[in-house]
Amino acid sequence: MTDLIKIPMVDGKFNVSFPGKCVYCGKPQEFIVPITASHSSGGRYNRIRQSATFQVPYCQEHSQSNKKYRTWLGAIFFVCLAFSCAAQLMISFALDLQETFQICVLGPALALAFAFLVGNLGVRKVWGSFDQTVADLPRSAVDGGLGLEMAMGTDTVGFSFSNDIIAQEFARLNGLTIEYVND
Ligand SMILES: [Zn+2]
Repeated sequence: MTDLIKIPMVDGKFNVSFPGKCVYCGKPQEFIVPITASHSSGGRYNRIRQSATFQVPYCQEHSQSNKKYRTWLGAIFFVCLAFSCAAQLMISFALDLQETFQICVLGPALALAFAFLVGNLGVRKVWGSFDQTVADLPRSAVDGGLGLEMAMGTDTVGFSFSNDIIAQEFARLNGLTIEYVND
C-alpha cells in the first residue's frame, strides 16, 4: 500500500506548503531542494509538456544523500549502458551481422533495455535490499526526491511520501486527503 495525496491545480498552479521538516526523516528543515515533476501528453507532433517545481524541505543529511545516491545510480547506469553497447557491438561483429537494421536499431535497443534492467532496476533492487535510503528513492518511472514520489497528471499532481507522519502533516496543512492505493 502506498499513500497518495492528490493536489489539484488552481489557476495553472499548485499551491502547497510543506511542514518545516525534512520530508524523509522529520528533523527540522535545513535545506530547500527544488524538485520538478513533469508530464507529457498528446501525440508525436503536438506534444504538450507540463511541469511544476516544488520547494521541498530536507535536513542537511538527506538533502545530500538525495543528490549523492542519484549521482551514483546515474553513474552506474551509464557504465552499464557503455558495457552493454560495447557487448552489442562485439556480438554484431562476432555474428558477422550485415543487416543495418540489426546493427543500428535492434542492437542499441536491446543494449538500452539490458542496461535499464540491470543498471537501473537491478541495482536499485539489490542495493535497496540492504540500504533503505536507496529503496526510498523514487522509482525510475516517476519524478521526485528521497522519500517523496511525484506523479504529474493533466490537472493534478500526486505526492507519495515514504514517511507516514509527514504525509499526514502535509495533508492536514493543505486540507487534502490521503488515499491509500495498492502498489
Ligand atoms: Zn532528513
